[in-house]
Amino acid sequence: MELQPIGDLFVRLLEMIIVPIIIFTLLMATRELSPKNLGRIGGQVVILYLATTAVAIGMGLGVSNLIDPGTGMTLEQTDVQTGQTPSLTDQVFNIVPENPITAMAEGNILAIIFFTLVFGLGMTMVRAEVEPDSAVRNGIDTIFDVVDAGAEVMFKIVWGVMEFGVLGVFALMAALFGEVGAQAVGAYFSLSMTLAIAIGLQITLVYLLVIIRGAVGVSPVAFLRGIKEALITALSIRSSTATLPISMSDADENLQIKERVYGFSLPLGATINMDGTAMYLGIVAIFAANIAGASLTLIEQLTILLTALLMSIGTAGVPSASLVMMTAVLTQVGLPLEVIGMIAGIDPLLDRLRTMNNIAGDMAVTTVVAKWNDAIDLTSGVWADAPAEFSEEAVSATNDD
Ligand code: ASP
Repeated sequence: MELQPIGDLFVRLLEMIIVPIIIFTLLMATRELSPKNLGRIGGQVVILYLATTAVAIGMGLGVSNLIDPGTGMTLEQTDVQTGQTPSLTDQVFNIVPENPITAMAEGNILAIIFFTLVFGLGMTMVRAEVEPDSAVRNGIDTIFDVVDAGAEVMFKIVWGVMEFGVLGVFALMAALFGEVGAQAVGAYFSLSMTLAIAIGLQITLVYLLVIIRGAVGVSPVAFLRGIKEALITALSIRSSTATLPISMSDADENLQIKERVYGFSLPLGATINMDGTAMYLGIVAIFAANIAGASLTLIEQLTILLTALLMSIGTAGVPSASLVMMTAVLTQVGLPLEVIGMIAGIDPLLDRLRTMNNIAGDMAVTTVVAKWNDAIDLTSGVWADAPAEFSEEAVSATNDD
């Protein structure tokens, strides 16, 4: 496909920004956070990430039980690339980098988050202990100033990349239709529909109605407007991690969320919070059972829910990462792994929907945690021109003018 290189260049430009933007924004977050506040915000973020993922899997299983994707199909023998799914202890150990520079060079995001947080908190603690005009104090203030400038510069670059992104997105979408178009509407229609419906419900009911309208009390339309660049990027590049610079820029500019919340919640979300992915793992389990002519008991479905939740936390935010994690879910309930080979062909399409849902989930949780911690300005950005009934603050701001 001739347009593919333009799309690939867009992805590379985004990948180039990921590590520095995480480090700069996360260090800025630690400048404003005491360990206690960080603990509170971190706790809220992690609990909401887990809760929304569990709901997403439930939603996927519910819709699958209604639609029964895969019934009538028979198992094709295919080669399965099983790969290695990391064990839980490995996943926890990998968070602590043996060498922070290697972690940065390899783009190991959880390890980068860990080291940056420890370093940032170390700086704030030392800063509080030393004399006001000492060299150490001045040095730390200078580092924070440099980091502040660095974050600004990174956002400038993101905006530049986004200008070019229009072309990149077009190129990637065009390449997609060359790749999977016919297959998706053919044999795998019921699987694709199940995922699309479950994702539609998750985004509308859980993120827009319960979290944004209910808990934050603002306009879901304004929220969608605020995160549209991130959603479109996720759809076109199929990677939560590579979308991170755009999600951060949307949170900062459009949603007017403070660095102290999104600087922490978005890199973490891109790595551990994958609602669309988790949901898909559950749906494929039902699809596999239907093809194999088996039916899953309630206990088996609960086992799937738990395994999918754990596996989605360990899934890397890169294209088609769930195909590897799926082996664990299917093995857990004794379903045929050949199914993975069968659905790999339409993954370039379904991965887009999953990744878009993953990003929407990160942004919704970040918005509500920002609201709870007074870290969002609901009078500017996309909220400023939100419909009056949704944003009282916006109305009073307009009246003040
Ligand atoms: N592509 C997804 C992401 O980056 C992961 C997956 O579901 O395969 O979020």
